[in-house]
Amino acid sequence: MNARLASSTPAEPAGAVRRVSVLLPLPLREPYDYRVPPGMDPVPGDYVEVPLGPRRIIGVVWGDGTGAVDAARLKPVVRRFDLPPMPEVERRFVEWVAAYTMTLPGMVLKMALSVPAALEPPRPLLVYRRAAAEPPADVRMTPARRRILDLLADGPPRTAGDLAQEAACGVSVVRGLAEAGLLEPELQTPARAPARPDCHRPGPALSADQGAAADTLRAAVEAHRYAAVLLDGVTGSGKTEVYYEGIAACLKAGRQVLVLLPEIALSAQWLDRFARRFGAPPAEWHSDLTGTARRDTWRAVALGEVPVVVGARSALFLPFRDLGLIVVDEEHDSAYKQEDGAIYHARDMAVARAHLGGVPVVLASATPALETKVNADSGRYARIVLPARHGGAVLPDVKLIDLRVDRPPPRQWLAPELRRALTDTLAEGEQAMLFLNRRGYAPLTLCRTCGHRLRCPNCTAWLVEHRLARKLQCHHCGLSQPLPDTCPECGDSGSLAACGPGVERIAEEVAHLFPDARAAIMASDTLFGPRAVQEMIGRIAAHELDIVIGTQVMAKGHHFPMLTLVGVVDADLGLAGGDLRAAERTYQLLHQVAGRAGRGERPGMVYLQTYMPEHPVMQALAAGDRDGFYALEAEMRLEAAMPPFGRLAALIVSGEDESLVDRTAMALGRAAPRSDTVAVLGPAPAPLALLRGRHRRRLLLKAPRGTAVQPLIAGWLERVEIPNAVRVQVDVDPYSFL
Ligand code: ADP
Ligand code: ZN
Ligand code: ZN
Repeated sequence: MNARLASSTPAEPAGAVRRVSVLLPLPLREPYDYRVPPGMDPVPGDYVEVPLGPRRIIGVVWGDGTGAVDAARLKPVVRRFDLPPMPEVERRFVEWVAAYTMTLPGMVLKMALSVPAALEPPRPLLVYRRAAAEPPADVRMTPARRRILDLLADGPPRTAGDLAQEAACGVSVVRGLAEAGLLEPELQTPARAPARPDCHRPGPALSADQGAAADTLRAAVEAHRYAAVLLDGVTGSGKTEVYYEGIAACLKAGRQVLVLLPEIALSAQWLDRFARRFGAPPAEWHSDLTGTARRDTWRAVALGEVPVVVGARSALFLPFRDLGLIVVDEEHDSAYKQEDGAIYHARDMAVARAHLGGVPVVLASATPALETKVNADSGRYARIVLPARHGGAVLPDVKLIDLRVDRPPPRQWLAPELRRALTDTLAEGEQAMLFLNRRGYAPLTLCRTCGHRLRCPNCTAWLVEHRLARKLQCHHCGLSQPLPDTCPECGDSGSLAACGPGVERIAEEVAHLFPDARAAIMASDTLFGPRAVQEMIGRIAAHELDIVIGTQVMAKGHHFPMLTLVGVVDADLGLAGGDLRAAERTYQLLHQVAGRAGRGERPGMVYLQTYMPEHPVMQALAAGDRDGFYALEAEMRLEAAMPPFGRLAALIVSGEDESLVDRTAMALGRAAPRSDTVAVLGPAPAPLALLRGRHRRRLLLKAPRGTAVQPLIAGWLERVEIPNAVRVQVDVDPYSFL
């Protein structure tokens, strides 16, 4: 039922029918033509509703119609939304992302049209507040009802949909509470534009280095043309303070600012700090927002009413009317790579967006991605360096604990030296953090009788024991089941044993060693939502806890003045598997973790427990020799012609029928583009050969730097017939090799 038909007819007389092409947020390669009804005068970028078969779809006017379809068969545009059109630069961005990532343009548009409801002017909302009266005694109180009442106890009235979303229940629960008289409905007029950040408020007095850095950024913003700037400074050197000056300059020029953070939901401290600096919070954009907040924010951005958006990678696709600056904080963070749907790297797309818009982009990091560092070294990016921690705070000392020599007792994980350091830290009344990037109690459960290992039926993965929740979980597909009493293989009872530690197990060891210490776990599955994270961070900062045991949730830019000791339980963890960036990522993560220590007045100490103290990553961390590590890493990549000195692109072939997947992957292997310079490796089973019930094979294309890999891949895919039951994903510049 395509509106655009293959058969072409001679163009009708000019002026008879006006037509426009409309891109739809569907898996389509091109826009479709529609007839413009009399009295409507759409311009490119206008949001319109059009028929498609029996449905009506919201799309964006992309340009003039192509005339390929007979005028008589054209369907009319149904309506045009009264909103500023999607800016030209955003439309070019959608096309650019589609072409670069080899995603259908319609699917990229879908990311840019993620909140169709925002196209309608806001209507009064039906919201609920808590009834003033005490609940009658005979009302049934379920956990879901309780959560909703709790939410409303310390929050504003909200719609049934938002309440249901936040309380993770159905809207019927909200309605039930209203019927029982516990909630009162109320009609709320649409929110007025929120308070605007004040760019004239003075920031702190900057140090000489910071001042020079801020001047450079201000000049880049005022020049209002493309520039990519690496803001390279150790943790605590004032990078945030410096880019705030760039933000102030952009606001003074009357333009919008986009700040990307790797995990915005975990960034409460950043938001508070911004609000203190500018007198009002920024608009947030991430997946934890309620439906109402998403609609209000999207619309306000489109109307140019939002000066600053801080968001996750999807914020790149907001319809900024006049964007003047993009900041990518912690630019090296792998959370910027989106791995499903359209596969893209938000840092790279931010640079492209800045280039298309003719505005500066700031990439901030204490441990830049090797890609970024090489770009700065070669002069493609400007570089601003902040060499020292603010206020004379010194970087922590990093010490390696060789686990082959300084061994923890059997089935315990903290080495004697780390235990002594913990004891001393607690005696001084200071705080310690133990880092282990593994949720749950134990990563593997095996039967001591028959050796059977408990694995996920849907994935190539072990089931992880979560003792607090009394569950076995798959961290890939979310499968969750009770821990069995007997071995599912041999039926023996009491034979299942936990192998290896997760944070819960470390917490158990800590409780045993330091029964009087106030300890807590900080991991994404022990803290529900941004509020819980914020509360935990508040407790740590207020020194209500002595020892925190955490995953990488805790590694992100938090500032804990009393934290003086960091112990990394398994520094080697990220090196296993050994993909292209294993060493780089491990270095970056451990450096960031180490950077949590000694941010206040007291110096910090970091212990890395490792079986490989001679590994270049460990040596560089211990010596504080970041640039030495980068130089070595760059040399190895250069020798292997690997990124950033060569290019990679991956095809991931997946499907439920293993033999069909295999046959398709083999066919792709035979049809692969090969030349003197281009090589294709595979097909090979992916390390995650089974994921959510789908079998997976990978092919990897390797080409010299500067090769346009997209046309090669496009030609390649055309040579092979892909069955409908098989999916082929293209990952240009892959970061994950799973
Ligand atoms: P980074 O982003 O490089 O980790 P921050 O900007 O977070 O560094 O600065 C680290 C700490 O030092 C923060 O608490 C910040 O408020 C403080 N700080 C940095 N520069 C200054 C300054 N010029 N005056 C006062 N405090 C500063
Ligand atoms: Zn699974
Ligand atoms: Zn068994």
